Amino acid sequence: MPKKANGERGRAEQELYLRDRAIAASSNGIVISDPNQPDNPLIYVNRSFELMTGYSAEELLGHNCRLLQGSDRDQPALDEVRAAIREERDCEVLLRNYRKDGTLFWNELRLSPVHDERGQLVNFVGVQNDVTERKQAEEELQRAHDELEDRVRQRTARLAEANAQLQREIAERRELEEQLTHQAFHDPLTGLPNRTLFLDHLDLALERAGRREGEVAVLFMDLDDFKVINDSLGHEVGDQVLLAVAERLENSMLAEETLARFGGDEFTVLLEDVASPSDAARVAERIEEALRAPFVLRGRDRFVTTSVGIALGGQGEERPGDLLRNADLAMYQAKAKGKNRHAVFEPGMDDRALERLELESDLRRALEREEFRLHYQPKVSLGSGEIVAMEALVRWEHPARGLVSPAQFVPVAEEIDLILPIGRWVLKEACRQARRWHDRFQGRPPLKVCVNLSAKQFQHYALVEEVEAALRETGLDPASLDLEITESVVMEDAPATLATLQEIKGLGVNLAIDDFGTGYSSLSYLRRFPVDFLKVDRSIIEGLGEDPKNEVLLSAVVTLAHALDERVIAEGVETEGQLARLREIGCDFAQGYHFAKPLPSEAAGALLAEHPRW
Ligand code: C2E
Ligand code: MG
Ligand code: MG
Repeated sequence: MPKKANGERGRAEQELYLRDRAIAASSNGIVISDPNQPDNPLIYVNRSFELMTGYSAEELLGHNCRLLQGSDRDQPALDEVRAAIREERDCEVLLRNYRKDGTLFWNELRLSPVHDERGQLVNFVGVQNDVTERKQAEEELQRAHDELEDRVRQRTARLAEANAQLQREIAERRELEEQLTHQAFHDPLTGLPNRTLFLDHLDLALERAGRREGEVAVLFMDLDDFKVINDSLGHEVGDQVLLAVAERLENSMLAEETLARFGGDEFTVLLEDVASPSDAARVAERIEEALRAPFVLRGRDRFVTTSVGIALGGQGEERPGDLLRNADLAMYQAKAKGKNRHAVFEPGMDDRALERLELESDLRRALEREEFRLHYQPKVSLGSGEIVAMEALVRWEHPARGLVSPAQFVPVAEEIDLILPIGRWVLKEACRQARRWHDRFQGRPPLKVCVNLSAKQFQHYALVEEVEAALRETGLDPASLDLEITESVVMEDAPATLATLQEIKGLGVNLAIDDFGTGYSSLSYLRRFPVDFLKVDRSIIEGLGEDPKNEVLLSAVVTLAHALDERVIAEGVETEGQLARLREIGCDFAQGYHFAKPLPSEAAGALLAEHPRW
C-alpha cells in the first residue's frame, strides 16, 4: 500500500501507483514481457487479460505469449510481430488466439517496446483487445456482401446468357430473313437469280439507260430439245443437265452481266451499255461456245445446245415486258431456223409470231375438219425391181394455204403435242389403205405400208396399244406394217425405249431407222436395238458417184447391216446412175423421185395397178 506521499518523490510514487491501478483496471488486456530473459517471457498480465484468455496469471507468467496461438502458427500477422520484436518497434496486428478452453478469439494487439534512460530495451508492453464480436459482425457483413455479390454475379450471368440467347435468336432470325429473301429472288435448283430478280434488274437497267448513251440487251435462251432429255431420261437427269448448264453459263459470264434462270429450261442474260446488237451477239457466241463440249449423262456424252433470242432497248419507251417478249420472239426465230443458234429481234418478227399462232390454232382444228391427207411413195426392191411397200407421208390440205408439207407443220404439231392425235390418225389411215390394196391386189405378195413415228409418239406410254388397236381395227397383218423412227429416238438409249421397241417387235411389226447417217448414231449400238431396216438418208445417196467417201460409207453400212441381219433402204434416189451404184453396192431397197414422188392414194393405187419394174 503506498503511504501518504509528500515532495517530488511522493508525487512520482503516487503517479506510478495510479498508473498501476489504471493498468490493472483497464478493460484492455495488458501484458508485459521481458525480452532480456530467454524466450521473452511474460512478467505481468492484468486481470482483463486473464478474463480474456481464461488463463490465470500463474499459468501465464514466465511463458511466452505464443501460448495463445495454439498450433495456429502460420498467420501472416505473426511475421509482423516477430519483425517488430526484432526491430524493437511498435506494431499493431490482429491475431487469431485461443482461450484456455480452446475457443477462438480475435485479438487486436498493440505491441510497444519500452527502453530505459540509456536506450536499452527493457520490456515489451502488449495491449490487447478481444474484437471477436466485431470480427464476427464484419465476417457476417462480408458474408452478406459476398452473398449479395454472388447473387449479383449470378443475375449478371443470367442476364448475359439471356442476352446471348437473344443475340442468337436475332442472328437466326436475320439468317432466316436472308434465306427467305434469297429464296424469293433465286432459283432453288441452280441458285441463280430468278425471274423476279431479273425483271427487277431489267427495270433498273432500263431506267439507267434512259439517262445514258448505251442500250440494254436481253438474251433469252431456251435449251434445244430439253423436253426429250427430261421425258426419256427422267427429271433427275433433267435437273442435272440444268445444273451443269447453269454452271457453264455462269462461268462464261463477265461480272457486269446478269444471268438468271427464267423458268424451266429458259435462261436470261441482262447486258448494259450495249452499243450495238453485235455486242450482244458476241455474248451469245460465248454462251454457245460454253455449251459446245459434251455433257456426261449416265456415263455417256450428250450434246446440249441452246437457241438464243436477243432484243435491245432502253432509249425508247420499252418496259421490261416488251424487251423480254421481243427476245422470246427472236428465240423462236432461232429455233425455227434450226436451233443451236442466236437471232436478233427485228420489228417484223411480231408478224411472224402471229403467223405461228395462227398456224397453231389452224392445226388444232385441222383434225376435226379432216384436212389431213396421206400421200404414198413406193419402196422398190432392188432384187426384183418391184414395189414392195408404200411409205405413208402426211400432208395438210389447208383451206387457204393449200397443201402444207410435213416439214412445215410436224415440228409445230410436236411442240404442242398435237402430233399424238395426228399420228394416231395416220397410223390407222395407212393401215386401212394397206388393207384396201391387199383386197384389190390379191394374188400378189402382200404390199407393206411404212408409217413415220415422231419421237414424241415414242415417249407416249400408249404407243404399243395404239399400234395394236390400228392393226386390230383394220385387220391388217402386223407383218405388213413397218414403223419408221428417227435416230434421235434410238439415241436416247433409255431402257423404256428399248422396252417399247421390243414390244412393238413382239406384235410382229417391223422397225426401220429413218434418215440414217444424219444424226450421231454410232453403228455399234444399233446392234442393241431390234431394228429390221436402215433407211440411209438422201444426203448420202445424193453424193453417190460423186463423193467416194459416201460410197465407202454406204458400203460399210450395207456390210454391217447385213451382218446384223438388217436390210438397207436408200432414200431419195433420183437418177438411174444412183440406182445402178446402189445395186452394185448391194443395197436392198430404194425410194425416191426416180421411181415416184409421194402420190395421193388413188394415184398410188393406179401405179400399183401398172405393176412397174425397175
Ligand atoms: P422421211 O420419212 O425421210 O420421208 C422422206 C421425205 O423425202 C419425204 O418428204 C419425201 O417426199 C422426200 N423424198 C422422197 N424421195 C425424194 C427424192 O428423190 N428427192 C427429194 N428431194 N426428196 C424426196 P416429205 O413427205 O415432205 O416428208 C418429210 C418428213 O416429214 C419425212 O421424212 C418424215 O420424217 C416426216 N413425216 C412425213 N409424214 C409423217 C407422219 O405421218 N408422221 C410423222 N411423224 N412424220 C412424218
Ligand atoms: Mg420416213
Ligand atoms: Mg428419211
